[in-house]
Amino acid sequence: MSLSSPLTALHGIGPRTAEDMAALGLSCVEDLLRFFPADYDRAEPVSLIADSIEGYPAAIRGVITAAPQSRGFGKGAVLTFPVEDESGKIGVTFFHMPYLKNTLKPGTERVFRGVIRKTRWGLRMEHPRLYDPEEYQKIVHAILPVYPLAGSLTQKRLRDAVRQALPEAGSLKDRLPEALIPGGMPLAEAVRAIHFPADERQLEAARQRLVYEEFLLFILKVRLLKQAGQESENRCPMPDTSLAKAALAALPYRLTGAQERALADIAGDLAGDHMMNRLLQGDVGSGKTVLALLAMLTAAGNGYQSALMAPTEVLARQHYEKISSLLKAWSLPVEAALLVGSQKAAERRLNAEKTESGQASLIIGTHALIQNKMKFHRLGLVITDEQHRFGVRQRDRLAGKGGQPHILVMSATPIPRTLAIILYGDLDVSVIDELPGGRRPIQNALIRPAGRGSAYRLILKQIREGRQAYIICPLVEESEGTDAENVHDYSERIREIFPEDVRIASLHGRMKPEEKNAVMEAFLKGEVQLLVSTTVVEVGVDVPNATVMMVENAERFGLAQLHQLRGRVGRGEQQSYAIFVNGYGRPEKAKRLEILTRSNDGFAIAEEDLKLRGPGDLFGIRQSGDLHFRLGDIYRDHALLETAAGAAAALLKADPGLAHHGQLRETVLQYQESDSIGDSL
Ligand code: ADP
Ligand code: MG
Repeated sequence: MSLSSPLTALHGIGPRTAEDMAALGLSCVEDLLRFFPADYDRAEPVSLIADSIEGYPAAIRGVITAAPQSRGFGKGAVLTFPVEDESGKIGVTFFHMPYLKNTLKPGTERVFRGVIRKTRWGLRMEHPRLYDPEEYQKIVHAILPVYPLAGSLTQKRLRDAVRQALPEAGSLKDRLPEALIPGGMPLAEAVRAIHFPADERQLEAARQRLVYEEFLLFILKVRLLKQAGQESENRCPMPDTSLAKAALAALPYRLTGAQERALADIAGDLAGDHMMNRLLQGDVGSGKTVLALLAMLTAAGNGYQSALMAPTEVLARQHYEKISSLLKAWSLPVEAALLVGSQKAAERRLNAEKTESGQASLIIGTHALIQNKMKFHRLGLVITDEQHRFGVRQRDRLAGKGGQPHILVMSATPIPRTLAIILYGDLDVSVIDELPGGRRPIQNALIRPAGRGSAYRLILKQIREGRQAYIICPLVEESEGTDAENVHDYSERIREIFPEDVRIASLHGRMKPEEKNAVMEAFLKGEVQLLVSTTVVEVGVDVPNATVMMVENAERFGLAQLHQLRGRVGRGEQQSYAIFVNGYGRPEKAKRLEILTRSNDGFAIAEEDLKLRGPGDLFGIRQSGDLHFRLGDIYRDHALLETAAGAAAALLKADPGLAHHGQLRETVLQYQESDSIGDSL
């Protein structure tokens, strides 16, 4: 076996499993070694039912005392049965797993691992993981990796495959010269320890080593790009602003001062000496879309096409509908075209033709579509909404289509200034730090799971008044290795709690685009009143009639992301509410979440978050948007990020352009953020 061996060379991996692994981007042994865990599972010691605390995960060793009862039929069946240990009794529930009835017979002893809930019927555990008691003793205190899964893969199978691959770690080649990794763990050791750490200290040391590497490569790439940008002359000059001015005069409101400043920055770039590479940062609702439109009209007025790329179809459609109705209302001589994956082939072909011929000058679509398949007539400007790293990642690809357009990256993710300078080192930055007036501040609440009852009452009251609500769960479905709420089971539960006439739907990233669109459309139209969703609604969705945002397991999200979710409400005239559920009710988590309830200002929150977070923080808190690296977390690891930025600056000062570090320069230029920045969950 070697690093380049296919995965089928490992025991227990046949063509089927290899296919599932390919879906995760894994094809050879080296890929597997560099496939780092997303989280770790730390098996807690067995405790007594009487000692268990609501909201906390626990491992209970008990005996099933009565045959499982099932409600419902077929795959929808709900299975419950009592479990007892010497101290007390607990109810165990499984959804959608009727077949368990045959194995879980009265008298069976197992270790049940899950979160303890208190219900009307007493203590409960939903979907516990089951272990043979002897087996469990062997894994207590172990730190086991938890990997992202695909297809029918299981943690067990992946762990087993990684274990077999580990002896090859010694042959991995360092991507950085040794001199740049002062005192770090050797690569092979770090890779072994990131998968199967002996203890927490070893795990942390391994992380530091690997995160530093990914940060340093990333920063060097950003710096090299910045240099290249500063040297590139403006090949798409756009000095004529008459079309944008006409639109501005027709707007039903006046731009805020901050919007005006940002607009001046953008117009200056478009007419200036160099290509624009600008980040437009502004809190949710600060009014970025209208600036995007004005920039696109400037391009059109100078004979250039522009593309607005949204992260989701729903958002692309929303932008398109708004923009084309404005163009019509203003009777501007400009045509817009929409390009999304779920369009009928004929419709898409027509729009693609309009784009290629130049008949349409404002092209709106999803990132995937515009990047991969499109031919443009004369593309002069690309605007991306909520895909921060676009500036670096895809410029090459667009350049390959002939012409290198101006780039405007829009983001509502508030990032502390110190970090923004590093992460966006290749971009100029405009900030909209002012909200259009006349909106009511959102009312916030931080609750424990026990407080859900009153949250549901508020939601019901709002629904009865004609409003709509979101409930966000971190997971799509029950998943191995975590106890967080999932959309699937939560929707089941909530249907039993709310009156039957309340129209509930669920939404998550694994649904087909058509299904997602249909649910989102129904929510937009008010046909769905309560939407149980993953964070797919996080970016940009605009449903002004929605007034409640409830987030389950809020402790698992970064504050910036929670702030972004909260931005989905408070968009209309009505008073809006944000409810954050501190999933396990742990007081140490509440401190961080309280920041959210004290402020509605995204940048202030980001700064506070940065102060509170540090290496002591738990794994698994995900940052918003696509700004998370494979391992590094810009908040938790901000000290490392700053060290890496310092090292990069020193290196480039001594050797601008890395002319004397040929090998490293090569690595940096080839380095793609996709190597380190993962997709959102
Ligand atoms: P975001 O920055 O989150 O993308 P949007 O562009 O969606 O914000 O703007 C939010 C809402 O505010 C939209 O309905 C938009 O029409 C409105 N808006 C934008 N700028 C202003 C302004 N200067 N005065 C009043 N309303 C505005
Ligand atoms: Mg927006």
